[in-house]
Amino acid sequence: MGNQASSGAGPTPATSRYQSSTIPDSFFAVTSTSSISENPPPYNTTGQILVNVTDVSNNTRILFKSSDGEHFSVVRKDAEAHTGALIPRNWNSRSMIDLPETSTILTTLFQFIGARKHPKLLNESFESLAEIARAAEKYRVYSAMNTCCERMRVFGDRHPKLILLYAAHNDYPHIFDECAPRVVTSERLEEFVAFLPEEFRLPWLRYHAIWSKALTEIISYQQVPSDAWARDGRWCSCWAYCGQPIFQGLGVGVHSLNDVSHVFVELVKGHTKSCKTCETLCTSWKAHASSVIEKIGAFSETCMSSEVKAAT
Ligand SMILES: [Zn+2]
Repeated sequence: MGNQASSGAGPTPATSRYQSSTIPDSFFAVTSTSSISENPPPYNTTGQILVNVTDVSNNTRILFKSSDGEHFSVVRKDAEAHTGALIPRNWNSRSMIDLPETSTILTTLFQFIGARKHPKLLNESFESLAEIARAAEKYRVYSAMNTCCERMRVFGDRHPKLILLYAAHNDYPHIFDECAPRVVTSERLEEFVAFLPEEFRLPWLRYHAIWSKALTEIISYQQVPSDAWARDGRWCSCWAYCGQPIFQGLGVGVHSLNDVSHVFVELVKGHTKSCKTCETLCTSWKAHASSVIEKIGAFSETCMSSEVKAAT
């Protein structure tokens, strides 16, 4: 039976090709910030004294406390020059600033403040980099924002959903555009859209609709005649081992377009190795699918710009 022939030959879920992470989908939407400690800084309570009392009282350094209780001090003029939101408006020079990040994250983040060589973050795990990137954006630590942006972009292949959300929440349209095809062809639309900032939701639905239209165009490829899998007027194994797996593959929806090689090569290679007719057909169909996908264009141009036009 047809069902038996296709069992186990369905498309691999696209998400299985990406890495999982402990970072939740809502991670980059969180906006908790610093707070001012009511108590004076406990200058001498730990063996590790990071702060010179004179500097703090002279108002030349600012004292911070991490979520795990470590103290840090930053030169005030450096913090003022190189960050945009690290110092709360109601801060006074005698108070300590409590930050919700751990000492590990703050140790790296604060290395970006000041006239010195800054870290390149080449060996950070994705989880650690994501935390540094979020803190950099939240406190507007400018040079850390730039470095994190480039490093996060590299993870777009492995963690497209989280990198896209990072880009959406922090205004990096070029990174969003790079990840958008991987995300639209791997995430469940109705679940994913809730994690996007509001202004992206309607454009994302539009983007998904464009991909759905592309899928229809690929399914109705003119070069595939209605009797493509019949030989001498009779249906043959070409249908069971080529036509049927491809249509079942495409039948899962836009997720099938995550990897067209999977549909037009992997699913049928057991058959196309020995059937020249089907091999030629699949090669040309795959090329057609790739060219249709190519024409979809970048999200920010095809979906966000029409949003702007509609509003004006
Ligand atoms: Zn064949």
